[in-house]
Amino acid sequence: MADDATMIVTGVPEEARRWVRHQQLRGRRIAFVPTMGALHEGHLALVRRGRQLADAVAVSIFVNPTQFGPGEDFQQYPRCLDDDLRLLGQEGVSLVLTPARQAIYPPRFSTYVTPPAVARGFEGEHRGEHFRGVCTVVLKLFHIVPADVAVFGQKDYQQARVIIDMVEDLDLAIEIDVMPTVRQHDGLALSSRNRYLTADGRQRALGLYRALAATKDAYRGGQRDAAQLQRVMRQVLDEAGLDAIDYAEVVDPVTLQPLTELLSPPSSPDSLSNSLSNPTSKLTGSTSGGAAAAAVALIAARLAATRLIDNCLLT
Ligand code: AMP
Repeated sequence: MADDATMIVTGVPEEARRWVRHQQLRGRRIAFVPTMGALHEGHLALVRRGRQLADAVAVSIFVNPTQFGPGEDFQQYPRCLDDDLRLLGQEGVSLVLTPARQAIYPPRFSTYVTPPAVARGFEGEHRGEHFRGVCTVVLKLFHIVPADVAVFGQKDYQQARVIIDMVEDLDLAIEIDVMPTVRQHDGLALSSRNRYLTADGRQRALGLYRALAATKDAYRGGQRDAAQLQRVMRQVLDEAGLDAIDYAEVVDPVTLQPLTELLSPPSSPDSLSNSLSNPTSKLTGSTSGGAAAAAVALIAARLAATRLIDNCLLT
């Protein structure tokens, strides 16, 4: 075993599992951050959160083919392992798992996870088998890196809810922590796919943030009618000049089912509430994955071949 200061980089699942088990036998708590690489400050916020929650952090970098549909950007997805490893080294990550496709999906691979109900609709509707691929790879990764806690981003809100339900349904012995979305100075949510955007596209992409901010303002101004809130969101999106809006809805934050009237949320403060009003704020709090909010506003929109998603909790 390498000493504690050395970052282990391995493509071998068994080596990663042995390392985690060895650390846990020494009484150390391990946090895990699964990623597809092309790392940015959003990913690094998850790593920093992992360091707060545990004694050591493991990260995986794997562009998972089974979560991309036909015609999606699996081939073009940015891959920049050297940069990623440099960033993770600077963050004091202890282990990076970089498996080859065959290490995760050997030739005779044929077992998949049926995603929970919350996977229906939204991304589940627009991206076919997306969550089947997500659940399958995340379950595999949780076995390969049997950490104590895994950190996910609110940026992929439905994904976080899907993972939380899968962990509960399948009695997985891992805690799930969800970190608020990290944004650029003007509010654009950081995403590995932002690098596909032209300068003009980036301007139009800001429509997602503006639409969410307007919805949040309307909610804070007392609007509790979900249809009205959706109208506010749509109007801003329409003005932003996006090429297509896959969905823009205000739904239950846990089940993602439609709402008519929004209830006031329980009074417990939720750090996510700051994430839209102050996009540059350093977001460090953990969240309940939305359970404390009255609703979540979810958007997916397209700009040429680039598909962007964003969301905010209404608290
Ligand atoms: P990905 O590499 O896109 O699969 O993302 C890996 C993890 O990083 C997921 O849990 C994402 O939700 C999270 N993530 C991506 N973008 C952001 C962001 N802007 N802020 C916080 N977390 C993010």
